[in-house]
Amino acid sequence: MSNPVVRTRVAPSPTGDPHVGTAYVALFNYCFAKKHGGQFILRIEDTDTARSNPQSEAAIMNSLRWLGLTWDEGPEIGGPHGPYRQSERGAIYREHADRLLRDGNAFRCFCTSERLDEMRIQQRAAGRNAGYDGLCLRLPETEVQARLVAGEPYVVRLKVPDHGTCVVKDLLRGDIEIGWDLVDMQILLKQDGMPTYHLANVVDDHLMEITHILRGEEWINSAPKHQLLYQYFGWQMPALCHLPLLRNPDKSKLSKRKNPTSIWFYKRMGYLPEALLNYLGRMAWSMPDDSEKFSLAKMVEHFSLERISLGGPVFDLQKLQWLNGRWIREDLDEKALADRVREWALNENYLMKLVPLVQKRLAVLSDLGPLTAPFFSGLLEITADQLLQGKLDADTVAIALEVTLARMEVAEWTKSGIEAMFRDIATKMEIKLRDLLPPFYVAINGQPASAPLFDSMEILGRDLCRARLRHAITQLGEPKSDDNKRRLNELLGRQEKSGEEE
Ligand code: GLU
Repeated sequence: MSNPVVRTRVAPSPTGDPHVGTAYVALFNYCFAKKHGGQFILRIEDTDTARSNPQSEAAIMNSLRWLGLTWDEGPEIGGPHGPYRQSERGAIYREHADRLLRDGNAFRCFCTSERLDEMRIQQRAAGRNAGYDGLCLRLPETEVQARLVAGEPYVVRLKVPDHGTCVVKDLLRGDIEIGWDLVDMQILLKQDGMPTYHLANVVDDHLMEITHILRGEEWINSAPKHQLLYQYFGWQMPALCHLPLLRNPDKSKLSKRKNPTSIWFYKRMGYLPEALLNYLGRMAWSMPDDSEKFSLAKMVEHFSLERISLGGPVFDLQKLQWLNGRWIREDLDEKALADRVREWALNENYLMKLVPLVQKRLAVLSDLGPLTAPFFSGLLEITADQLLQGKLDADTVAIALEVTLARMEVAEWTKSGIEAMFRDIATKMEIKLRDLLPPFYVAINGQPASAPLFDSMEILGRDLCRARLRHAITQLGEPKSDDNKRRLNELLGRQEKSGEEE
């Protein structure tokens, strides 16, 4: 029998900004598929209806295209295994959940959230592993039927062996052993009839004929559940390869609190897509001749899983910048560079956003340079003294910057949404809006008298604003007094309840 065509996929969930981690995983899947003359598929995993949104989906697709990681099948272009959006495949998952129920490999669970909370508290108190205790697994069939007839809501859970060890094969890590006692009776179908990630992911990888799954190592613990599902369905499991996670320089998981993670940040800063791809390729992988600079085509040509190393790859902005400089100097002639600059920000569309902000302040056209410099810059040269020119003391400014940094994740990124955010922060901090804003003019635009703040922030985008606020915080340091540290924690604590976690 001839080997099947290699088919890989990237399966992002459309929540939030397009993440460099998605591009990294997409790149490795793309290279592996192309190296073997196979296909690379994009699948949108949007079963979490509360968090998924179409803007994020569009941003993922646009950013992958910007990077040149085009898919052979997926949303917008279709293909023989569509639809490629999980939210459009509900009936397929329900059918498969029914099949598991029929075969006795899954069960209905009627437990209420109150009972599950109580169960967790008891498990914690007894120092036992958290996980469903199997109450509904033991329900007699007649009772299940009666409760169904009575219309009680239920979820469908996976049956899991109650002893022994699961061995999962990973192409990079060899055999990974995980005790079945650590594997939860996972919910497969939620009360609303929507599947969870685990069911949808396995069903789709099978139906879409995926042969190799290259994904982040955070999914290793899910692999036993997936393997079990493949066994229950009687399907062959694709080969698994868990890639090492990208890390901040302090080795923690790459997070936007410490490092910009949105692909749009890099675009906005003027990194070239080929340089960003090149850098992502060097995370965990190296060319046979160890060359640092290589194109996507070269990476495909030389790609092999054997050259992936498992040490935690550190995403280092300075190295990326150095590499980007090389691409600019060595690979673009003057005309090509001018074209890139035009595409980046010297275009009609961008100028038309800036002109209304500065027209009133122009005496001569050459005033445009200094007035709009922050819109063509990355991080700005600012000092603590400049941040403290207003009425607020250093600790209050430090608190305001930190609170804004947290709060901006959930703000609507429009002029009015940004204004509402600042008004709310001023109220919570019990200071006047006009006293709150001066340090933000400095942090965002480099000087106290500059283009209007809320418009500027909208135009600059959340990613660059986040980076500039973080830069300002670095200049100023944390609040000094214990009282103010407490105050900050209190304000942040209140924020985190509604804030987005990464
Ligand atoms: N939707 C998952 C994610 O967001 C996909 C994980 C996988 O590749 O299996 O990363």
